[in-house]
Amino acid sequence: MVEVKVLIKGYTSADSLKSSDIETTCPTITLIKDGSNIIVVDPGVLESQDLLLNKLAEEGLKINDVNYVFLTHSHPDHHMNAGMFPKAKKLEFYGLWDGNRCLEWDQNFTDDIEIIKTPGHSSDSLTFLVKTDLGNVAICGDVFWKENYPEDDPYANEKDKLAESRKKVLEIADYIIPGHGDIYKVNK
Ligand SMILES: [Zn+2]
Repeated sequence: MVEVKVLIKGYTSADSLKSSDIETTCPTITLIKDGSNIIVVDPGVLESQDLLLNKLAEEGLKINDVNYVFLTHSHPDHHMNAGMFPKAKKLEFYGLWDGNRCLEWDQNFTDDIEIIKTPGHSSDSLTFLVKTDLGNVAICGDVFWKENYPEDDPYANEKDKLAESRKKVLEIADYIIPGHGDIYKVNK
């Protein structure tokens, strides 16, 4: 069975900034283990890359054990550390990168991992839907920043599409891993 684990619980101060504050942000960083596929989603930005290295070590993993990095979308707070994993293939909206080669990815990445386009926050947003013992876990990036938040995404480039994407994710997911908060259960 596939395992999904939040390695780093993300945060953002973008929702509570006073004018004099400096914004701080960190995406939620997730590990997916699916057979021989060891996947890190959104290695992001971090106060220190050691935080992620330590979390991987707790799972018995070294950098080169990770063979895929998945990126939910192209905002820098989600992808800046992709280079921490030189051996891993990188999967994002436009392709699956193997070194300098940009290959196409398959919507059904494995029997238990489906890749869905969920535009709205950005036009290149993906959701990774993983079948687990608990049910369907949707790793949705900033489709939701935190549990059912924000109602009105100030950074969304297409609000109509975001509303559709949110509806879709809520319909198919039993659990959601949002872009900047902890995993939560969907109330059905
Ligand atoms: Zn974000």
